[in-house]
This record gives sequence, C-alpha cells and structure tokens, in this order.
Amino acid sequence: MAQQVIQRLKGTADIFSPEAERWQWIEECTRHFFEAYGFGEVRTPLIEPLELFVRSVGEGSDIVHKQMYAFEDRGGRQIALRPEMTASVARCAIENGLLRKEKTLRFFYQGPMFRAERPQKGRQRQFHQLGAEILNAKPVEADIEILLLIDGLFRSLKISGFTIRVNHLGCADDRGSFQEKLRDYFSGTRDALCEDCRFRTDRNVLRVLDCKMPSCQPLIEKAPAIRLCPRCEDEYGKIRDELKARNIEIQCLPRLVRGLDYYTGLVFEVNGGGALGAQDAIAAGGRYDELIRSLGGNDAGAVGFAAGVERILLAQGESQCPGEDDVYAAILDRNFETERYYGEVIDKLYKIGRRVRRDVSAKTLRDHFAKAEKTGVRYMLILGEKEVKTRSVTVKDLKSKSQKELSWEEWPVFLTREFLKGEVK
Ligand SMILES: [Zn+2]
Ligand SMILES: [Zn+2]
Repeated sequence: MAQQVIQRLKGTADIFSPEAERWQWIEECTRHFFEAYGFGEVRTPLIEPLELFVRSVGEGSDIVHKQMYAFEDRGGRQIALRPEMTASVARCAIENGLLRKEKTLRFFYQGPMFRAERPQKGRQRQFHQLGAEILNAKPVEADIEILLLIDGLFRSLKISGFTIRVNHLGCADDRGSFQEKLRDYFSGTRDALCEDCRFRTDRNVLRVLDCKMPSCQPLIEKAPAIRLCPRCEDEYGKIRDELKARNIEIQCLPRLVRGLDYYTGLVFEVNGGGALGAQDAIAAGGRYDELIRSLGGNDAGAVGFAAGVERILLAQGESQCPGEDDVYAAILDRNFETERYYGEVIDKLYKIGRRVRRDVSAKTLRDHFAKAEKTGVRYMLILGEKEVKTRSVTVKDLKSKSQKELSWEEWPVFLTREFLKGEVK
C-alpha cells in the first residue's frame, strides 16, 4: 500500500523557480537600495526568549496574546518564533553594545516571521518581511528619512499606486490624556464593542482604534482624536512639510494606531497598489522611543518599518519583469565544445555585471525563443557550432526582433552600451 503523502503545514508555502526568481529580485533590489542609503544588514535568530516579545510587542497585543508560536524547549526554556523583527534588532543592539556611543545605527533586514493567523491572500503563518531600523535616531530628521526610504524603496520595487498614511501619537503626556479620553468614551459604549475590544479597553485602549470588526467601526469613527501639545504639533508639522516639499503625498489619519505596544510619536502604514486591497497594508512602522530602555538599554530614540514580501508581490502584479537586466543564453548543438565556449561567455558576462539565464530543457531555437520571452529578458545570446568556430556570439534583441553576429571583442561592448542606454533613459 502506498504511503500517505505528507503535506506542508497550513499557512506555509513552497517557493520554487520560476517564482523564486521574483523573490531573489526583491531581495537583491532591497539590499542594493539600503546599501545606497548607508544601511548595513542585521541577521538575528528565528527563535528568541518569549519574554522579549511579551515586554516589547506587549502582553495584551493580538500578536502575543493570540498569534505567537511559543513553546517550551527540552531545557524548560520559554521560546518564541519571532513574530516581528524590531524587538530582535533592539535586543541585538543592546546585547552587543552597539548603542553605547551616540552614533546613529542604520540596519536593514529581510527574513521569515511567524504568526498563527487565519491564512488568506497575502497573509501566511510563515510570512516574510523586509525592513529597516534607525537606532539613536534624531526626532523629525530620522522620521522624515524613514518615510523617504519607504517611498524610494517601493518605487524601486516597481510598486505603483500606494498611499502613505500617517499619524502622530504625541509624547507620553499627550498619549496619557488621549488614553483617558478613549477609556471614558469606550467604557460608555462597552456593550456595543466586540469581545476583543472589551479586553483592549482594559489592557491598551489605543488598540480599539485598530479593530477590524465591522460592528466596532461606527464607534471608532466617533471616538475622540488625539490632541497634540504645541511641541509635538510642531514636530508633526515639520515632518509633513518636508514630505510635501519633496512631492511625496501623505494622508493624515488622526485615528491611525498600530497593533504593537511600543510605538510613540510618528506612526504610519502604506496601503494599496496592484492586486492588494486598499485596506491591506504593504508596510507599517513608526517611532519607538521607549522600547530600548524597556529592554534594558539606554535612552535611545528609534524609528523603523517593516514590509511584507508576500504583499509586495501582490502589489507588483503580474506585469513585473524581474529579468530585465539579464540575458538569456540559447545553446544550440549542446556538446563539450559549445559548453566550454559557453563557460567563457559566462565569465565575460560576470565581468560586465550581467546575469545570464538558461533553460536546459529547450532544444530547438523556437523553444529557446519561447523560454527567453517568458523570463522577460531583453537580449538572447545564441551559441552554436558556427559561433564556436568563429569565436563569435549572435545577439538577438527580443524587443526589436533584430539580430547580429558579433565578434568576441564586439559583443560585450555592444551589450554594455545597450544596457546603459536603457538605464540612463
Ligand atoms: Zn506632546
Ligand atoms: Zn472591536
């Protein structure tokens, strides 16, 4: 009798070629983008002490309360699979003494996170985030920097039609009186709130504003908005003015909050784009000036954001061509000679900074055309016995459909010039 097939866990995904190439493209694009802005990479463990997230994300938060994968290991330690990255980056900076100097730290990261949510489009139990954190961050300056980064990153990831929504949660005083007002208001409407919101009213009333239940919406819409003190109002105004001066459109939503406890000051989310519903956030973040101290570090202000890779893919839509920079190699007459010659061609392509793709299942020139067009590359290199004999390469422009046979000296120069034309247009 045949054995039963073992299936992957609900809310997880197998990602393989050709879809994996889109992931690689996003990862590479993200790395290059952050490096250009002076960010270095940080990699932290997937497992952390449970306490880290209880103290940072908050015991009453949906993430810790309902969604975290937590377990006791064989040594009796309480462990959690990381549900988000900010707490880990803060822990890493404190533990490794990176915050002792007043120097501003800029880190980016990408990797899997885990939350036991109901799986749906763009929402997995193992999901992937990319993001950045600025630690020892100057207020206003770093807030503006992070919003500019998001705008630039999403444009370089070829996402269009996204909206940046912002709010300011003020200083501790502003938040204190805001919470008091909200508690009064929601206590009065308690019976109409969903069960979660009744719990939130007692634990962290701000989070009622983040409830997605339709029955809570009319109450949320009439809830009091935050009142900022003159100093915070001035800070918020500076952020908005600077973004306006750079032609970056933002929407100010006075009831926007995030589902994590550690945010102070500026909070934001990025919505929409492509196949993603307007309500689905691709990215979110904000300032968290008290987190580092609450984890045993010094008084270091910080701001950051995280974006969901599954959502970026949805927002990019199907039109995305990750292979634009590459060339496709069609090897006709596959034998030792053509393979050896192809090895030399690969070396040359690396030297001019181009990746080459190949499909070993294609046999005829016609097969190769079909495969090359599917990958979205602009140029196809054709190598056969004829090219090996004359040490030449036939270069076909898949857009104009023209092709020419170029000598060993000519073809790399031709490609470099053509790609440069495309990049500087
Ligand atoms: Zn204030
Ligand atoms: Zn609710």
